[in-house]
Amino acid sequence: MYLLTLVGTRPNFIKAAPLHRAFSARAGIRSALVHTGQHHDQQMSEVFFAQLNLPKPAYHLGVGNSSVQTVTQQTAEIMCRLEPVLTTERPDWLVVIGDVTSTLAGALVAARLGIRVAHVEAGLRSGDRQMPEEINRILVDSLADALFVTEQSGVDNLQREGIADHKIHFTGNVLIDALTDFLPRATARNTVGRLGLSKGSYVLLTLHRPANVDTKAGLQHLLQLVASTARQCVVVWPLHPRTRANLQTFGLLSQLNSLPNVLLLEPQGYIEFLNLLDQADLVITDSGGIQEETTWLRVPCLTLRSTTERPVTTTLGTNQLFPDFTPETAEPVIASLLNSQPADSQIPPHWDGQTAQRIANILTQ
Ligand code: UDP
Repeated sequence: MYLLTLVGTRPNFIKAAPLHRAFSARAGIRSALVHTGQHHDQQMSEVFFAQLNLPKPAYHLGVGNSSVQTVTQQTAEIMCRLEPVLTTERPDWLVVIGDVTSTLAGALVAARLGIRVAHVEAGLRSGDRQMPEEINRILVDSLADALFVTEQSGVDNLQREGIADHKIHFTGNVLIDALTDFLPRATARNTVGRLGLSKGSYVLLTLHRPANVDTKAGLQHLLQLVASTARQCVVVWPLHPRTRANLQTFGLLSQLNSLPNVLLLEPQGYIEFLNLLDQADLVITDSGGIQEETTWLRVPCLTLRSTTERPVTTTLGTNQLFPDFTPETAEPVIASLLNSQPADSQIPPHWDGQTAQRIANILTQ
């Protein structure tokens, strides 16, 4: 059996690692990767291949992430370059992950060619179609032949949308497979100590969603939050390339650089970032995956969004949505989280490090 996994972005690489490992450990399975090139540089791509023991992709589509390219152009470009690859390779399954442009483009091409699509991280819904990811999730799930779900809400959403029960598999979370696998290495690397920080002495910040970082007003609002948080605690902020570029374009980078108590970093490798997450007092983010990682690590998380497609992180986990903040309303919330005891939270079902094995069992039946 031949399983081809399509990857394009940072979170895809991380989730592909346990999948590829589980697939290639099985007799009679050939597992390979196709990289679309959506994230392609050293910090957003190569470092993950090196740290996560991912094999060199069998194909690199070289699509790139140009700011002049629209999402539609990028989707079309990936589709055009992927079609001949899938026509030649004809895998038994194309495995697509998450909700990025590459995921949708891959599912569309495979479905057109009659190649079965396995969607890892299926069923998540924010209910907000302004998010390009939400459109991707809905379309990919409607095309997929096997849907691997991370939390009960995903099963409920898919059933409500009329997806046949036999296609839906509540297997858990491959992101947590990666986390449990790499956490000991992250602890040994001690990035926190190397940066002169210690456990529980800083707030970790990550922001990259267009709704937060694509306008000058939005970024100015965030900088006020950063300044107010930094009056209480050191703020560690690995800047996503999109966010850095927008700060630069709007002339806000020097203002940010001058804020005291803010440690600006380049995007971190996975091992380094895991240690920063694990030891943080509080995480403030708009990421999808980081809501889940903080839940597993039992680190309090404030998500600067009005919706989440990962509701279990708010009902069982440590996550709290925090959309309409002002520096004034944020200050007491952050102060109370910084001073609170570790959250009385639970780890969601099947977030146990065995998800990729379960997916491999089902795909190879
Ligand atoms: N991450 C990383 N380095 C960083 C920031 C994030 O390795 O500097 C990891 C993080 O642990 C998580 C994933 O990247 O697993 C989240 O990626 P991102 O927030 O870009 O995407 P999303 O989850 O929102 O799709």
